[in-house]
Amino acid sequence: MNKPVRIKKLGLKDRYALMTRGLDWETTFQPMDKVFPYDRYEGIRIHDWEAWEDPFRLTMDAYWKYQSEKERKLYAVIDSFAQNNGQLGLTEARYINAVKIFLTGVSPLEYAAHRGFAYAGRHFRGVGPRIACQMQSIDELRHVQTQVHAMSHYNKYFNGMHSRYHMHDRVWYLSVPKSFFDDAMSAGPFEFLTAISFSFEYVLTNLLFVPFMSGAAYNGDMATVTFGFSAQSDEARHMTLGLEIIKFMLEQDEANVPIVQRWMDKWFWRGYRLLSIVAMMMDYMLPKKIMSWKEAWEMYFEEAGGALFEDLSRYGIRLPKYYEVATKEKDRLSSEVWSIFYNYGYAAAFHTWVPTDDELDWFSEKYPGTFDKYYRPRFEFWRKQQQEGNRFFNPTLPMLCTTCQIPMGYTEPDDPTKICFRSSQYKGETYHFCSDGCKDIFDFEPEKYVQSWLPVHQIYQGNCGGATVPEILDWYRLKDGADNGDYEGSQDQAMWKEWMAARARAAS
Ligand code: FE
Ligand code: ZN
Repeated sequence: MNKPVRIKKLGLKDRYALMTRGLDWETTFQPMDKVFPYDRYEGIRIHDWEAWEDPFRLTMDAYWKYQSEKERKLYAVIDSFAQNNGQLGLTEARYINAVKIFLTGVSPLEYAAHRGFAYAGRHFRGVGPRIACQMQSIDELRHVQTQVHAMSHYNKYFNGMHSRYHMHDRVWYLSVPKSFFDDAMSAGPFEFLTAISFSFEYVLTNLLFVPFMSGAAYNGDMATVTFGFSAQSDEARHMTLGLEIIKFMLEQDEANVPIVQRWMDKWFWRGYRLLSIVAMMMDYMLPKKIMSWKEAWEMYFEEAGGALFEDLSRYGIRLPKYYEVATKEKDRLSSEVWSIFYNYGYAAAFHTWVPTDDELDWFSEKYPGTFDKYYRPRFEFWRKQQQEGNRFFNPTLPMLCTTCQIPMGYTEPDDPTKICFRSSQYKGETYHFCSDGCKDIFDFEPEKYVQSWLPVHQIYQGNCGGATVPEILDWYRLKDGADNGDYEGSQDQAMWKEWMAARARAAS
């Protein structure tokens, strides 16, 4: 009888090493520097690519198995949500406006991330980061697909969601998220990973995902909650990649420290400015509120971020520049941004409104130092105007910050009543900024930002369909009277009222 062969089972770590390491080679037909032209020009010095540790040790085979399992569960929930008219379980139709911003502003960034990680993965000569980037690239493609599928159900009923990609490329406020990723993708691979994997995913993503997903759950939006949770499990891997790339760069060479610090300063500020839209969504757009932006900022940045940078201080890394400005702004950020959108709501693909009395009281309670003093009188005035039939819209076009592309509506760090305005001269032209953070970013790389596609400049140059509002809305594919304007009197609101009336009739 044959004796069974005893195969010694390898541990996960060894098996992973065998399946992923030693598969690359030094090129001979072409010099390595020509094959990988981008991983040195940023100035980052790497001595030992093998020192890259991948804590997940996920093989491609296991990766596809896990992901397909998640997909099966997700699509079962999405189907049942659609079949059971899940839209009727929302707290209120106002809530959907946050989803519209997500679909036109955030989901296209998932696709941009898919492209960005594919590019970064191609350009690292080390195998560890290459595999991590490849998996993340596929994850991001999955994220955009699942988000579009989940939210497509709402598109059957609500306005503003019909042309998400077209809008992302053209509509003025969507150039804020779009330019953020364009900036990262046109950087080198190490800066891209610092920008997206570290600053965005590791440091700031909790401020996007946690409040937004619990906000969705709280407001009955089970479609969003489901894709949120499905993405969240990938997020753990992404955040680990973010921390790993930072530690890898810092440990490889001391000369990397100042470069990494400058990237952290830049991408903290750019990410923070981008998240001001989330501040507004949390505070102003959730009919049922979970926590204020200020509370989220304290919990996820001041506490969690503080501990992280404490940990990184042993490498000579300090907190990002201007974090104290962001902290000073926590009492006013959401109100300033909502005011901008309230002003220009005739050119936005979602509705704006004045908060209800209960909501105004919530703000007074959450923002005791600022709300009653600066913002309540403004909203009460606007509401009075609206009730008298003069809903206020600002007919002029705003000046934009050349770096973050947000209208200049932010205020001086120490004076919430004064617009913060900075400028720089470059080759005989003047450029305008919303903050010292944005000015610093421009001043370091002016050649990059003088190319910015600033929506207002483009309108004035005649590149956006014409010189009148209807022509521009047309060019945006924004349906006047349906997608834009006040929530009061909108088609969304009328439909919602009808649904609720039908429900009340059925119950009585
Ligand atoms: Fe993602
Ligand atoms: Zn700015």
